[in-house]
Amino acid sequence: MSEKSTNTTWHQGSVARTERERLLGQRGATVWFTGLSGSGKSTIAVAVEAHLVRAGRLCYRVDGDNLRHGLNRNLGFSPDDRSENVRRTGEVCRILGDVGVIALASLVSPFRADRGMVRALHEEWKLPFVEVYVDVPLAVAESRDPKGLYRKARAGEIKDFTGIHQPYEAPEVAELVLDSSAMSVDVAAARVVEALKARGIIAIER
Ligand code: ADP
Repeated sequence: MSEKSTNTTWHQGSVARTERERLLGQRGATVWFTGLSGSGKSTIAVAVEAHLVRAGRLCYRVDGDNLRHGLNRNLGFSPDDRSENVRRTGEVCRILGDVGVIALASLVSPFRADRGMVRALHEEWKLPFVEVYVDVPLAVAESRDPKGLYRKARAGEIKDFTGIHQPYEAPEVAELVLDSSAMSVDVAAARVVEALKARGIIAIER
C-alpha cells in the first residue's frame, strides 16, 4: 500500500480505553470469522451478537458484504482488492475495539498474510484478536449455497470465487475452529462466547 498521509501527527486524548471499558463493563476485542462463503460465518456472528447484546454486552457485527455496500464499495474481488477489503475492515474493527466494543467481523478473508496483518494491527493497539476458523468442506458450503454464488461461479457468471477460482488459505493457528457441518449454530455461538469469557473480555468490574 502506498503511504500518502505524511505530515500528520497522532493527537492523544485524555480518556484511556480502560475508562470506556469500565463504562461498558467489558473489554474491546475483535472476533474475526474466516472461512469459505457459505461456511456459516455470518449466521454464527448473528447468533453471538443476539446472545451478547441480550446479556447486556455491546457488540457490533462488521459483515464483509455489508461494508461492501459503503466503505468498501469501490473494491472488487481481485487479490489486491480482497487484501484492501480486509485491511479496511480490520481498521474498522480495531477502532470499534478501542471504543470498547466487541466487533464480530465476518468475511471470507482468504489470505493468511492479510489476516496476519489485521492481527498485527490489533497487537499494535494491545487489543484481543480472536480468529475463528469456520471450517467446512467445500462440498458442504457449496451444497448450502445460501446466496446462489456457487451456482453462478460454476456457471461462469462469477470468475473470481474463493474455493473455485481463487484459493482459501486455512489458518495454521486459529484461537477457535468450528466445524459448522458437525455442530448447531447455537453450539457454535456458545463456543465463541466461552472463548470471550476465558479471555476476560466480557464481564469486567464496572
Ligand atoms: P458465510 O457468512 O460464511 O458466507 P452464511 O452464514 O451466509 O455463510 O451461510 C451459512 C448457511 O449455512 C446458512 O444458510 C445457514 O443457515 C446454514 N447452516 C447450517 N448449519 C449451520 C451451522 N451449524 N452453522 C452456521 N450455518 C449453518
